[in-house]
Amino acid sequence: MAELTLRSVGKTYTGGVDAVSDVTIDIKDGEFIVLVGPSGCGKTTLLRMVAGLETVTRGDVHIGGRRVNDLDPAERDIAMVFQNYALYPHMSVRDNMAYGLKNRGEGKAVIEERVAEAARMLELGQYLDRKPRALSGGQRQRVAMGRAIVRQPAAFLFDEPLSNLDAKLRVSMRMEIRKLQQRLGTTSLYVTHDQLEAMTLADRLVVLNGGRVEQIGAPLEVYRKPASTFVASFIGAPAMSLLDARIEGGRLLLEGHALATLGNTPGPVTLGLRAEDLRIAAIGLPMRVEYVEELGAQRVIHGMVGDQALAVTDAHDAPLGPEVRIAVDPSKLHLFDARTGRRMDKRLQQ
Ligand code: ADP
Ligand code: MG
Repeated sequence: MAELTLRSVGKTYTGGVDAVSDVTIDIKDGEFIVLVGPSGCGKTTLLRMVAGLETVTRGDVHIGGRRVNDLDPAERDIAMVFQNYALYPHMSVRDNMAYGLKNRGEGKAVIEERVAEAARMLELGQYLDRKPRALSGGQRQRVAMGRAIVRQPAAFLFDEPLSNLDAKLRVSMRMEIRKLQQRLGTTSLYVTHDQLEAMTLADRLVVLNGGRVEQIGAPLEVYRKPASTFVASFIGAPAMSLLDARIEGGRLLLEGHALATLGNTPGPVTLGLRAEDLRIAAIGLPMRVEYVEELGAQRVIHGMVGDQALAVTDAHDAPLGPEVRIAVDPSKLHLFDARTGRRMDKRLQQ
């Protein structure tokens, strides 16, 4: 087990693509860190640099206090789990799991014991003699996990390991991975584009945008205090509504309606409103109803305030007219710099 440190890490591919820029992350021993961001933001590149499958253009990678920039993957004491499982089709489950250990010359007894232990943990005992093609997607993913576990590495690296599974299996495998990691206490770096997966798995998440870190924090901290409009719109479903507003004469104005008394500097701002912080009321901001998303326990009402989109969560199922009024709690609104998109402190006045 080990801590894992990235120091100002960057990657420029031949041809000049800057895939990763100036990434610094300190991962504590036993911590589960999730790298999350949209497709193309550099997640895989970053993970492959930690694994040693890609050279580091700038900065340093440390695993367990040791600088590993120039070490081969096999010397880094890490195990990687891929999206496509990367199992050997001609080998049995047992041999797939044992492969890495055999390769590094472990004794037969050790190999047998570790494979048996991993198979027990992953409930793969009855499949050990099967070939991968005779397994379901979920079972294959478990074999890939087993192969990582038996090596007892300093750290696990996961690259979207669940994206080939159907939605239901993804949720159950997500919980299995989390439980397994907690039991083993192995430092983990997990990559996904799925914000829900990130929220539910991570001790801390790292939001990446265009190869740069937008924010690092515990899931709820990031959810409650997004550092930028990018994070605000990426983390949480439905996405936080972002609207053009103004601060004028000590008031926050949205489409001519005063929502709060603020001591901030006058000028344009981006206003962030989470659907669940809003409610339908007798008086408040007028919103034209566009469509309603039924989720069973609640519904999300999508509407327009002037020409700006707003989503509101509602627990009731009373019929809606073409226009509703929305109550906004000033303590729950978010403010972002209209130009940079960075979070601003809000100076609420009574
Ligand atoms: P993600 O995993 O977040 O989808 P990647 O790390 O795969 O992102 O890619 C980040 C950026 O680097 C993208 O613009 C991608 O096109 C580029 N890229 C990835 N691999 C290579 C490569 N081998 N050569 C050149 N550019 C690459
Ligand atoms: Mg990727």
